[in-house]
Amino acid sequence: MKLQHSPITQHQFKDIAFYLKRDDLLHPQFSGNKARKFMSLLNWQDAKIDTLVGHGSPQANSLYSMAALANLRHWKLDFYVDHIPSWLAENPIGNYRAALTLGANIIATRPTYGCSVADYLSTQQWSENQLFVPEGGRSPIAQLGVEQLAQEILIWKEQQPAADWVVALPSGTGTTALYLHQTLKEHHIEVVTCACVGGDEYLKQQWISLGEHAHPTILSGTTKHQFGQLYPDQYQLWQALGQQTDVEFELLYDPLMWQRLLTWWPTQKGRNLLYIHQGGLLGNESMVPRYHRQMG
Ligand SMILES: *Cc1c(COP(=O)(O)O)cnc(C)c1O
Repeated sequence: MKLQHSPITQHQFKDIAFYLKRDDLLHPQFSGNKARKFMSLLNWQDAKIDTLVGHGSPQANSLYSMAALANLRHWKLDFYVDHIPSWLAENPIGNYRAALTLGANIIATRPTYGCSVADYLSTQQWSENQLFVPEGGRSPIAQLGVEQLAQEILIWKEQQPAADWVVALPSGTGTTALYLHQTLKEHHIEVVTCACVGGDEYLKQQWISLGEHAHPTILSGTTKHQFGQLYPDQYQLWQALGQQTDVEFELLYDPLMWQRLLTWWPTQKGRNLLYIHQGGLLGNESMVPRYHRQMG
């Protein structure tokens, strides 16, 4: 199975004209950067494997993507989380709901085993039918799929008039930005990102732990950003972005990247911008009501 060559569309947000790589449209269920990161597992040749094992938050985009992958491969998915909040268990929503629908087995380690997911995983030995994937696909298995994304960008760029290109995408673990940079730097395309989780130092640490020493450009901010917190100004930016582009963006990562771009881009005269839409739209299903509750 091959999922690739997502479209590239053209938009304008405020004073920024940009192109958008629509990885949100890769596949109805298996899309976004998690699909890129897990793509090598779509063609993984190991007949003994029948169960995918993952861990993370019960609302993570990676939970849904792993459930979609397991479904495509006719594998089971065991996904370990610390615990499932009772409001979510009672009213499944977003990634959690969709993963359950796809048959995911979501296991809360704290009530079941009395320990955190990290403690639980550190004591496990996986058997030969189980394929373990680190949280959020923070792993070299992500390299192949992200390299494919980079190749698609290069093929597209060849068909465009010559220009000084910048590729922008927000980071969590930074795995996607790092592997994109690895391929694109040889073609003099700058990859810019921002740290949505844990700050700039955390992001650099992630890159070093993946064994790479050439890193993407980080657009820093002056205020501290707490992952998963609600920022009404970001919600307003997200709404304006959606209205002006006719594309729904994601609410956890994209608004911070656009905030940074709005200040940085005007200093980059004459360059061309390609933004990577990394999917994750099901997460909005729980983020939007959270904002509505907070903002009244
Ligand atoms: C996971 C995710 C990210 C972060 O990806 P990393 O490779 O961990 O940096 C960004 N945007 C969306 C929508 C995601 O789901």
